[in-house]
Amino acid sequence: MLLSNKTTLITGASRGIGRAIALLFASEGSDVAFTYLHSEESALSLKTEIEALGVRCLAIKADAADYNAAQDVVKQVVQEWGKIDILINNAGVTRDALIIRMREEQWDEVMNTNLKSAFNYIQAVSAVMARQRKGSIISMSSIVGLNGNAGQANYAASKAGIVALTKSVAKELGSRNVRVNAIAPGCIETDMTSALSDQNKEAILQMIPMGRVGQPEEVAKVALFLASDMSSYISGQVLQVNGAMA
Ligand code: NAD
Repeated sequence: MLLSNKTTLITGASRGIGRAIALLFASEGSDVAFTYLHSEESALSLKTEIEALGVRCLAIKADAADYNAAQDVVKQVVQEWGKIDILINNAGVTRDALIIRMREEQWDEVMNTNLKSAFNYIQAVSAVMARQRKGSIISMSSIVGLNGNAGQANYAASKAGIVALTKSVAKELGSRNVRVNAIAPGCIETDMTSALSDQNKEAILQMIPMGRVGQPEEVAKVALFLASDMSSYISGQVLQVNGAMA
């Protein structure tokens, strides 16, 4: 098992990519603490599935955009388990609109949930990981954070911010043996993308040379690589997972 005796904290993991990461990491031997925003029911059912894999689990209700809540979550995990080896900044939302019509709340909500949340949790775990002299931090960027996308200026900016945040913190924490990387998925089949119209889905499919969207588990496997010692000399990088889309 690649993550025996490790502890992982994942934000926004009750469904989609975060859920797939939680289950894969648990099956590789890691204890998993995860946060969720609304659905207590799916959070508790994920907790049961994780524990059935023979590891410990903490399901904590917390808004990833809330700075003080992030401090409390990290404190709670360290109090319970004594350490955090892996942080996955996964929580994210879209609030799409063309720039000319984008409302201030749409901009703020996306920046706070997608980018400020990563700052919140990276800052909260930095001291813990620096003390441990070991850690792996992985944040979800996106193909549109690298290439831009009409109708998603807020989302694309937040995901480009993740890239710059990742590269900067990798330089700051490298001497402490804390690795910091990002994953930039293309189009992955989750609730986030099921909201797209059939016409948009078809247009996206046309842009994917592999001819299909990705599955959450295919992103989880990349997170496993970046979290484990398989990638022990990789830091400050953005790994693209997009079926040759870009
Ligand atoms: P999803 O909508 O299925 O899951 C997002 C999760 O984040 C949900 O569990 C949601 O409750 C949680 N969340 C949202 N706001 C939160 C908050 N304020 N606090 C805590 N949790 C919160 O989407 P997904 O596709 O699984 O996306 C996971 C990550 O991957 C996101 O950061 C997303 O931007 C990124 N991503 C997804 C795709 C894709 O095609 N699905 C592509 C590129 C990047």
